[in-house]
Amino acid sequence: MRRKVVIVGGVAGGATAAARLRRLDETAEIVMVEKGEHISFANCGLPYYIGNVIEEREALLLQTVEGMSTRFNMDIRNLSEVIGINREERTVRIKNLRTNEEYNETYDVLVLSPGAKPIRPNIPGIDQAENIFTLRNIPDTDAIKAYIETCGTKKAVVIGGGFIGVEMAENLWELGIDVSLIEMSNQVMSPIDYEMAAILHEHMRNKGIHLYLEDGVKSFEDHGTNVVLSSGKTIETNLIILAIGVTPENELAKQAGLELGIKDTIAVNDQLQTSDENIYALGDAICVKDYINGMPAMIPLAWPANRQGRLVADHISGKQVTYKGTLGTSIAQVFDLTVAATGNNEKTLKRAEIDYKVIHLHPNAHAGYYPNATPISLKLIFNREGKILGAQGIGIQGVDKRIDVIATAIKGNLTVFDLPDLELSYAPPYSSAKDPVNMAGYMASNLLGGEFESIQWHEVGEVVASGSVLIDVREPAEVIKGTISTSVNIPLNQLRKKLNELSKDVPLYVFCQVGLRGYLATRILTAHGYTVKNIDGGYQTYKFTKLDEECRV
Ligand SMILES: Cc1cc2nc3c(=O)[nH]c(=O)nc-3n(C[C@H](O)[C@H](O)[C@H](O)COP(=O)(O)OP(=O)(O)OC[C@H]3O[C@@H](n4cnc5c(N)ncnc54)[C@H](O)[C@@H]3O)c2cc1C
Repeated sequence: MRRKVVIVGGVAGGATAAARLRRLDETAEIVMVEKGEHISFANCGLPYYIGNVIEEREALLLQTVEGMSTRFNMDIRNLSEVIGINREERTVRIKNLRTNEEYNETYDVLVLSPGAKPIRPNIPGIDQAENIFTLRNIPDTDAIKAYIETCGTKKAVVIGGGFIGVEMAENLWELGIDVSLIEMSNQVMSPIDYEMAAILHEHMRNKGIHLYLEDGVKSFEDHGTNVVLSSGKTIETNLIILAIGVTPENELAKQAGLELGIKDTIAVNDQLQTSDENIYALGDAICVKDYINGMPAMIPLAWPANRQGRLVADHISGKQVTYKGTLGTSIAQVFDLTVAATGNNEKTLKRAEIDYKVIHLHPNAHAGYYPNATPISLKLIFNREGKILGAQGIGIQGVDKRIDVIATAIKGNLTVFDLPDLELSYAPPYSSAKDPVNMAGYMASNLLGGEFESIQWHEVGEVVASGSVLIDVREPAEVIKGTISTSVNIPLNQLRKKLNELSKDVPLYVFCQVGLRGYLATRILTAHGYTVKNIDGGYQTYKFTKLDEECRV
């Protein structure tokens, strides 16, 4: 029997489901309804078009209604909004936004991929300001671009330090605009932890971005030309980008009485069916299972939407498929740096009450002796059994590869003990014979094997306050550039000669620049009967958190 599938939403998830469905079933009747003008556009590229990094608007339009209709033999209705679902009759009500005409359309199977919309909070003055924009689609992009061009924007305020906020800050900066970024929490980029974000803060400040952390917007004054913060500070601006997060487009699901999940997402089973088995849902609007901790989560990213789109089409076509959950692997460019993460961060693991261990390392992205080697700050999180729970990386080169390898390792159920055994490609311009991922595996294995003990950057303050002995094992030339107050300098190569100056009655804490010499020092000291802990990630990890504290505007 010829089956009729109606798909709501024609961008990432919806268009993927539609195309896969056609490939699997040449006879199905496929109706894809999209309330916007454009289907299958590159939402992820929008900030870069605003910043003129992507020069051609056409490059964002991956498919046209005509092109996709012809190739996939579909009935695509753009500028058409689904405004209701009648589950009994299996019909949807559609409003043609060109003519305002309304009509019913029957379905055998309904697929909801309506996405998530930017949150617009009820802040005093928001309705009087004509310079506040959110960014979700092509019309939003056109409006921002036109405003910048016609109003001669010199100053901009970006509210929200997530992916879109940070990408917009960078792209406005590319246009020569003076940018202030306001973020309510103590860090940008919530997928990573604070000490990693501190590296980004330093970089963004160096580029000239004014970062206002742990501050929120109290009101917009003078038609949005002044942004007043909770701290009492006022920032003058021409343009405001509101990027404080998204909320699921759940009105249809709610009205149809479908079960909802956390944050009012649409609840689905492992086959992405809602509480009505004839209605599937996917993408930003749904509640997924966090792949690491198994808890319900909203993870609005393009990979899950695309993967789920394919799986929904597979399941409709009779294939036995299961969505295994979302790992949340993500990446962004922050000026000259790349930041990427996979799995859970410490904040999430604490909320889920999952025990974990952490290592930080700062290996070069490629062999140090080959020109232009730059370090990657890498963080690996795992449990006592060696299960990998998450990873975060920041650097100029090679971050994507390392995080993707670790994401693959997680999905392949590899443990930290398997990471040293990953035989990864190597030549000097690309890596080292011990790749950073191998190194992370060695370090984690050594830690779990009891070869050394470590403390984290946030425990240093307590150690300093307690008057414990802190030994900086770097060379004096490095120490001059900055060290932890109260530490004594005993370079690693002199440590054996100076053992008699150290007491065995108190615990010792050692550190170097990135953790390696500190580790060697712990081995020497332990072998001589001292109780010693290494400061994980060395001075490099610690210093960014200190700099961040000092730089708060
Ligand atoms: C500026 C920006 C940058 C991004 N960058 C990245 C990135 O770098 N990496 C990444 O992983 N993710 C990124 N994302 C997120 C990614 O785009 C989304 O996760 C993905 O598009 C979600 O797919 P979706 O199908 O759920 O929703 P969408 O792609 O948003 O599509 C939903 C569509 O449904 C339509 N719709 C909603 N309700 C109705 C209705 N009732 N009737 C008809 N149509 C309806 C909407 O108009 C919309 O076009 C970015 C998003 C934005 C906005």
